Amino acid sequence: MSKAIREQIVRVSKLMYERSMANAFEGNVSMRDGNSIYITPSRICKGFLNEDMIVKTDMNGNVLEGMYKPSSEIKLHIAAYRKREDIWSVVHAHPPYATAFAVANKPIETKGYAEMIMLFGKVPVSEYGTPTTDEIYRGMEECLVDYDVILLANHGIVAVGRDCFDAFYKMEAAETMAKTLILAKILGGEKEIPDDKLKVLDELREKFENQKL
Ligand SMILES: [Zn+2]
Repeated sequence: MSKAIREQIVRVSKLMYERSMANAFEGNVSMRDGNSIYITPSRICKGFLNEDMIVKTDMNGNVLEGMYKPSSEIKLHIAAYRKREDIWSVVHAHPPYATAFAVANKPIETKGYAEMIMLFGKVPVSEYGTPTTDEIYRGMEECLVDYDVILLANHGIVAVGRDCFDAFYKMEAAETMAKTLILAKILGGEKEIPDDKLKVLDELREKFENQKL
């Protein structure tokens, strides 16, 4: 189990790096296994990680196994696992388009992009908190009650899921949608979908969410 978890974390970390969603020192990926957390180490480039570099900690962030320090943003991961017992992975990074929304303190939302409405409804922005301190997760916890993907104000994005790939795909989708919405602004802004059709998209999203349970 431990080997499979480490492999997943390494694969997702490399994907994040290769797809320009995290530069050398940014981003962190974790998975929960019972009362332990496996997480990427601090200040090691995500593109060159291997399984042995992944750090195992308890639910308070104390290192149980590993030669490196855990990510400095581990507090964010611990807070997410404490808030949501149904999640097994947390992915955090600063991909440029989603982070642009976070820096502007604007949620990713739209009345013109059908796929975005069906998949997310909205990606909210949590309150600003200084990275690496306890403040970082306080606003996020509240948003986690209703959302799996959240912008951290003036900072980046966090996604949670049933495994690393699930959380990563959500983050990647949010980044692509943020990019499309920014590009649409250059073309004069979105053309809104009529209200009655928006309602259908909301219903489809709710149906999809219920099927996941
Ligand atoms: Zn960060």
